Amino acid sequence: MNPKIPPELRRQVSQDAQYRCGYCRTSQRVVGGPMVVDHLIPVSRGGPTTRENLWLACRRCNEFKGARTEAVDEQTGEAVKLFNPRTQSWSVHFAWSSDGTEIIGLTAIGRATVLALRLNNPEIVAARALWLHAGWHPADG
Ligand SMILES: [Zn+2]
Repeated sequence: MNPKIPPELRRQVSQDAQYRCGYCRTSQRVVGGPMVVDHLIPVSRGGPTTRENLWLACRRCNEFKGARTEAVDEQTGEAVKLFNPRTQSWSVHFAWSSDGTEIIGLTAIGRATVLALRLNNPEIVAARALWLHAGWHPADG
């Protein structure tokens, strides 16, 4: 069971993350509920509940991430650390497909994170197509 996040800390982390999931970049306003405060290093692995170890994630990404900290990049067969949205730049490791519905991993970290967190499963890709149609996605192009 994850520790309770004090409201002020949740507010700070939400602002740091610009109210978007750090992995799939889904905006909080399209998910119809609060996002999860994700422990970058999971609680079960000793990760503290401090601003430095927290970021915002949607429920899907948080659930698929679970207690994982690394995953295998299929292209190189190498185990790499999952993307860290607080310390790493999203656009270095990921890009949107030309139609804007899928996330492409650009690096070993990006590719491993796309697979581990199932960033392109059919349900989310279908939702993104609707959000794009409405002009709600991607939040920053
Ligand atoms: Zn997400």
